Amino acid sequence: MLKLAHYSIGVGDRFGHQARAQIRAVQALKNQGVTVVPVWNKSFREHSLIGTHPADTRRAADAAVAEEKWTSGYFLDADHISLKNVESFLPTSDFFTLDVADFIGKPVETADSEAFADRHAGLTGRLSVPGIAQPLEIDRATLIKVASRYLAAIRAAGNLYRHIAAAKKTAPFVTEVSMDETAAPQTPVELLIILAGLAEENIPLQTLAPKFTGEFHKGIDYIGDPAAFAREFDEDIGVIRYAVGRFNLPGNLKLSVHSGSDKFSLYPHIAASLRRHGAGVHLKTAGTTWLEEVIGLAAADGEGLALAKRIYRLAQPQFDALCVPYATVISINRANLPSADTVDAWSSGQFVGALEHNPACPAFNSDFRQFIHISFRLAAELGAVYTDALKAHAAIIGEHVTGNLLERHLKPLFLDR
Ligand SMILES: [Zn+2]
Repeated sequence: MLKLAHYSIGVGDRFGHQARAQIRAVQALKNQGVTVVPVWNKSFREHSLIGTHPADTRRAADAAVAEEKWTSGYFLDADHISLKNVESFLPTSDFFTLDVADFIGKPVETADSEAFADRHAGLTGRLSVPGIAQPLEIDRATLIKVASRYLAAIRAAGNLYRHIAAAKKTAPFVTEVSMDETAAPQTPVELLIILAGLAEENIPLQTLAPKFTGEFHKGIDYIGDPAAFAREFDEDIGVIRYAVGRFNLPGNLKLSVHSGSDKFSLYPHIAASLRRHGAGVHLKTAGTTWLEEVIGLAAADGEGLALAKRIYRLAQPQFDALCVPYATVISINRANLPSADTVDAWSSGQFVGALEHNPACPAFNSDFRQFIHISFRLAAELGAVYTDALKAHAAIIGEHVTGNLLERHLKPLFLDR
């Protein structure tokens, strides 16, 4: 088994130009004593919208790692894949995020749920889990209920894992299972029962992405009660520890936090939990790097700023279509979006101020930020006009990419202070 490090961060690079700037961020943290392994993740959805191929991501990452002389490991994540779209990722990915959220709640035979409850009868009663103050209370009815809700998803994960393992032959890879793109969060009790099922499928699970309490929207801070999240996250770590021992899962199994960028109000809680338990984590970010490209272009002023404004003008009439693929993970108040004419009149500083995620800045507009977040397809359609601009303004964009990752994400999460 290819082993994922204690700390890892999923980084996105939609256009394949920022891998070096991203490595500079993890290198800067490593220089301060903390190693966080980068994992370049890109979903089938993102590849389709941009017109790229998983091999492009591999090429960009390999080249950047060599150029920056990064020696602490890295991975290429086939993010949110299913049996329908895994094929193109098989040759170049060494990390697979098996998205089985669509199978949650799919019916299974009553006899199957009951047989599952029989096999795991040992979990019923008051279960003391180290790290969790109150014992977990599980009865047979709960086991059956959770099994009937999650067994189809658990089996889908098993089928997909075996499909990948057969295709990869002897090439090792990391396996994550994700259940985050669904409506209802999973409780720690559900998580424990799901882990029992995933262990039965013999999946060498290294990361699990549950749906946590509250909303994790793209490019903005957490929506919900950070204290409620903190309790749940802490209990989930306890459950994972317990499940590793009880179900013989890989010892480095850890939580994966999806849509993890910009969740500033959660990072102190996550950091405290990790320290308290000595636990690892995988934090997945992606689109925030594309936002830093637009910020860097705007900060460059002149042609760069003009291009950022042009992308916004092109995106505006496509509002509804752009929202469709991200409907469950955005919350844009359209009334707060400035008109394209208004934005055209903005200075470089006004554009950057509106887009950069600095809640203390009066110019910051989270609706504008979310809308630009989902508008990357327009930049892709500009083709070389966009990618040439990335090259022309590589220095200033790179500073923003590195700074955002290092100062706003890596340091608050992983640096003891
Ligand atoms: Zn996800």
